[in-house]
Amino acid sequence: MKITESKFYRDRCYINGEWITADSGETISVNNPATLEEIGTVPKCETAETKRAIEAANEAWPEWRAKSARQRSDILRKWFDLMIQNKEELAQMMTIEQGKPINESRGEIGYGASFVEWFSEEAKRVYGDTIPDPMTDRRIVVLKQPVGVVASITPWNFPNAMITRKCAPALAVGCPVVIKPASQTPFSALALAVLAEEAGFPKGTLNVITGKASAIGDELASNPIVRKLSFTGSTEIGKILLQKCSGTVKKVSMELGGHAPFIVFDDANIDDAVAGAMQSKFRNTGQTCVCANRIYVQEKVHEEFCKKFVDAVSKMKVGDGLNEENSSGPMIDEHSLSKVEEHVEDAVAYGAKVAIGGARHSLGLNFYQPTILTDVTPQAKITTEETFGPVAPIYKFKDEKQVIDLANNSPYGLASYFYSRDIGRIWRVAEALEYGMVGVNTGLTSKAEAPFGGVKESGLGREGSKYGIDDFIEIKYVNMCGLDK
Ligand code: NAP
Repeated sequence: MKITESKFYRDRCYINGEWITADSGETISVNNPATLEEIGTVPKCETAETKRAIEAANEAWPEWRAKSARQRSDILRKWFDLMIQNKEELAQMMTIEQGKPINESRGEIGYGASFVEWFSEEAKRVYGDTIPDPMTDRRIVVLKQPVGVVASITPWNFPNAMITRKCAPALAVGCPVVIKPASQTPFSALALAVLAEEAGFPKGTLNVITGKASAIGDELASNPIVRKLSFTGSTEIGKILLQKCSGTVKKVSMELGGHAPFIVFDDANIDDAVAGAMQSKFRNTGQTCVCANRIYVQEKVHEEFCKKFVDAVSKMKVGDGLNEENSSGPMIDEHSLSKVEEHVEDAVAYGAKVAIGGARHSLGLNFYQPTILTDVTPQAKITTEETFGPVAPIYKFKDEKQVIDLANNSPYGLASYFYSRDIGRIWRVAEALEYGMVGVNTGLTSKAEAPFGGVKESGLGREGSKYGIDDFIEIKYVNMCGLDK
């Protein structure tokens, strides 16, 4: 399939219900990371177009918030149905622009849509409160109201789900949204806008703007009409946006980088741990914020785990994600590839051993071999920096206390994982890990029903689950007095 032949292909932005070009007429080229060929272009918008998108959202707000929860729920449900009906075409489009294996793209469309389904249901459950007042003639009432115009900036690694995870709860409670997708994967975002239009969102309720990140980001972060900025991306850009949002005291949600520990205790089921490590480390070619970054294996089972892990990795097939047989796709670009290469070379220089892989793939282009490193040392960059690639560094540890200290020794606190069959240890370790998410005997924890998010420099706020609604709500206290007259 050529992406330009898809009925969902748009080379324009979606603002106020219209498909527009940039004021300058300039465009950004989008490439397939598996072939490096240009697959299309999108408008290179800047500040003026961003202002118009924000104003359109603000104008749409009164009508959208005035709809009943049931009415908003019905439109969201239709959006969900359309995503599921068109899953295959949306998945193909995603693999062409992002590179992930087609089965993972199908999985992401299902995952992304699940947030729309979940929040179409939660829309009806935004309950307020009544609280006993100390005075007999008074009542305390708590209302929950939409925060207002929401800006959402998203990354390229999950081009569909990172958008729906923010926008579905915002729209569900009555907030209009302005979405700025990653420049490397704009077509999945624009396809979501095509489906949103068909689902019946009123004009201006959902807007998608592509273009120059700094200009669009500055306007979204500083414009006083925007009441909430929800960002998913690197900790570096997240910190810049946090500072910029302080000027107008916006609410913020930050889903930032991670450096997940993955611990295998000697009482673990080793086959399960290997399967979990494969899933956690190599999904999306290692380009997820919840990827295992440090694999700690207890001395007694170290040899068995490494042997089985290497065996599993040796069966992986690398290549264009459109080929159903391939289980690992390209890196997103040369910059990411060089970082992976640098991390491996640096770890080896500090004493790590390459158990498998360890170099660019013979396919060339953006492909890197799935890699396992053993005997990795604390000084290596890979021990502290997010690699964002298909490299699994393994460390040996002695006991529970030591590994908890090692695992928590990071400025990040997003996902963590451990494998054990000992119920006492499971509780102790789950409570001791300073992470927003802990997978016990699993390498995959993300689902619409659960709160996703990090502590420390991994972020602020939670997405998904019943808690995901809270980030888009203002609590209003109404004191009803004089009720005895
Ligand atoms: P990134 O460079 O921070 O980019 C993310 C988004 O921010 C893109 O839309 C990008 O636009 C935009 N952006 C870049 N510079 C900006 C600026 N000055 N002002 C406003 N927006 C700006 O991150 P990435 O490389 O795409 O994604 C990888 C990172 O995201 C990793 O660190 C990963 O851990 C993290 N991540 C976190 C989660 C989570 O839920 N915690 C989920 C997925 C990914 P352009 O594309 O136009 O540059």
